[in-house]
Amino acid sequence: EKIDLVPLLGHVRDALVPLASDVGVDINLHLPDGKVEVLGDRDELVQVFENLMENACKYGQEGKTVDVWLKNGAGQPVEVSIVDQGPGIPAEHVPRLTERFYRVSIEDSRSKKGTGLGLAIVKHILTRHRARLIVKSEVGKGTDFTVRF
Ligand code: ATP
Ligand code: MG
Repeated sequence: EKIDLVPLLGHVRDALVPLASDVGVDINLHLPDGKVEVLGDRDELVQVFENLMENACKYGQEGKTVDVWLKNGAGQPVEVSIVDQGPGIPAEHVPRLTERFYRVSIEDSRSKKGTGLGLAIVKHILTRHRARLIVKSEVGKGTDFTVRF
């Protein structure tokens, strides 16, 4: 099925507004004009972007922003980046983030509820879509989760 990511990302963002306002972060969408279509399963892709935006908000910090970029350059792969200004993830944890039940115990991350399954599900779904998850993170600055189709 062909899925247009432009409205899909808008819907996911709308669904996360209550969580974002609880935490005190703003989610800014940066979408191109027109359609950006990928082949895939709509419900599964919603789950991917819900998990990533939920993490970006949950581990975000009051007064900071979450930026969501959808890129579709000519001849370039479609990419969605979810960029937060949260605590960041120490490099030694990054390779293990998509393991089931893996959680990073940085200060106050244990106080955030979660099972550690979100990113395992994301990884599983993206593999089925032949898409990659690229993680760039800097402690004290924030994290960029990019999905490349
Ligand atoms: P669940 O998603 O199942 O509710 P969770 O959020 O703890 O629980 P994952 O989404 O798999 O689990 O994330 C794994 C761990 O990676 C988190 O517990 C957190 O420590 C870390 N993490 C994920 N996203 C971020 C982020 N944007 N900033 C900082 N740490 C993050
Ligand atoms: Mg999560």
